[in-house]
Amino acid sequence: MSETTVEVKLEVKQASKEVKESENVAEKYSVMTVSKNTEMNMEELSSAFSAVPTHKPVKKQIQFVEDKQEFSRFPTKAGRRSLSRSISQSSTDSYSSAASYTDSSDDETSPRDKTQVNSKGSSDFCVKNIKQAEFGRREIEIAEQDMSALIALRKRAQSEKPLAGAKIVGCTHITAQTAVLIETLVALGAQCRWTACNIYSTQNEVAAALSEIGVAVFAWKGESEDDFWWCIDRCVNTEGWQPNMILDDGGDLTHWMYKKYPNVFKKIRGIVEESVTGVHRLYQLSKAGKLCVPAMNVNDSVTKQKFDNLYCCRESILDGLKRTTDVMFGGKQVVVCGYGEVGKGCCAALKALGAIVYITEIDPICALQACMDGFRVVKLNEVIRHVDITITCTGNKNVVTRDQLDRMKNGSIVCNMGHSNTEIDVASLRTPELTWERVRSQVDHVIWPDGKRVILLAEGRLLNLSCSTVPTFVLSITATTQALALIELYNAPEGRYKQDVYLLPKKMDEYVASLHLATFDAHLTELSDEQAKYLGLNKNGPFKPNYYR
Ligand code: NAD
Repeated sequence: MSETTVEVKLEVKQASKEVKESENVAEKYSVMTVSKNTEMNMEELSSAFSAVPTHKPVKKQIQFVEDKQEFSRFPTKAGRRSLSRSISQSSTDSYSSAASYTDSSDDETSPRDKTQVNSKGSSDFCVKNIKQAEFGRREIEIAEQDMSALIALRKRAQSEKPLAGAKIVGCTHITAQTAVLIETLVALGAQCRWTACNIYSTQNEVAAALSEIGVAVFAWKGESEDDFWWCIDRCVNTEGWQPNMILDDGGDLTHWMYKKYPNVFKKIRGIVEESVTGVHRLYQLSKAGKLCVPAMNVNDSVTKQKFDNLYCCRESILDGLKRTTDVMFGGKQVVVCGYGEVGKGCCAALKALGAIVYITEIDPICALQACMDGFRVVKLNEVIRHVDITITCTGNKNVVTRDQLDRMKNGSIVCNMGHSNTEIDVASLRTPELTWERVRSQVDHVIWPDGKRVILLAEGRLLNLSCSTVPTFVLSITATTQALALIELYNAPEGRYKQDVYLLPKKMDEYVASLHLATFDAHLTELSDEQAKYLGLNKNGPFKPNYYR
């Protein structure tokens, strides 16, 4: 991978009038473009709802790592009932609670072979079982309780209907939390068609509940790869309905439309992309001059990185390990590969329960952070023989190799918290001399000829998304950011956004955070005039520059 340095001229814009926190969805935001192939211009960007005055630009250098990953996922030649376990490489790094409380094993009929109708007579959906809608509704109501900021946004903006006329096609994990987002978009005036970005993470009952209220959902838990693309196509390719907005998580939907429906794609007003992978794909398109639609990179907003990646993993790593293995953490030796946001979250949780944690890192800065947080930074080979648990969180591939798996001790647990299922070289374990024994759902014992067993979780896929739930409140933060990004892109006047990839401005991140503060009865300190002048800030924010992370 090579690195490209791009210059970003960051324009800090300030609200023209005082906007009280949590009061007005028409909060005014500026947006910064971060395309790698163009010199950044300051833009007259403000929110969908009114103009804001501009202030002095601040010039900053930032770096992006070029990602060589290509759009590579097409329908397999395998039939639609393919048992392919090659899970989508689509984003699974955010926004999901994989746990579905619906037991789908009792009905083996493919949803594609069923004719189902909701209570209003519509059959424009394809889910496991529409009869589970009532149960799904209860799940959505439970999620709503911890997504009060998103609900507040829904209430405040629904009279204005800022998404009236928006036809949003979405490809995300379909969970109770996503349903709260989708229903918020509908309340704000949008029509939505939705599909899953991951073949395992759909909560069937939630998909049924959404279909019951008229959202065209095409998704079920345990889709084959062929089903996956069929569902995406059914969302996009429908008579009398043409999407004008995309909400994507992983870039598969974007790619499908770009390749299969270029004329429809060209007319899209904006793409909101959630994941690392999807964002990289957008930058690639932009770099190649092929991105003909403005896109918002939600992944790199502070409210995603610092909350979803860090806190979500801190709260879910132990749950995933406990549910699958019943392991006790006190005194256990754990090696965590990668000390980025996800690694930091995992390590904090493990340390709190008394585990002895080692870190591997390639980046001296993250390595130094790990040292100063009290962790030993080692090479994996130094500890692989004696650790009890190995966790990868790098976003890289082949971090744990077959050779290292060979050297793990009997009973060692190995799992992944990163996006891709190639962080652990699981493919190398599928050799004749090793025996695989499925001991629980998502738990395999891989047995060596001498009897040694390594416990592999979720076949090397994201542990928390595959084996545990993730905290609703964190997802509310990401969902609120997505909703605001959609509103902004949809309402932006012609010319505000070019065919490029944009970052959400700090002001919008701050607004999303402020909406969530009420839950904690947190009281912000206000800058005095004198202090604001001293720091060179507007009293209403933004309080940090856009490059602050
Ligand atoms: P990050 O870039 O902040 O951290 C990754 C770290 O891994 C970096 O510090 C990097 O230097 C290090 N690294 C890279 N290759 C390495 C190697 N071979 N050995 C050791 N260290 C190495 O990224 P992040 O936000 O922490 O995300 C990490 C991964 O987790 C990504 O794939 C992301 O998509 C995924 N993710 C998962 C969840 C989840 O819920 N499980 C949530 C968000 C993100």
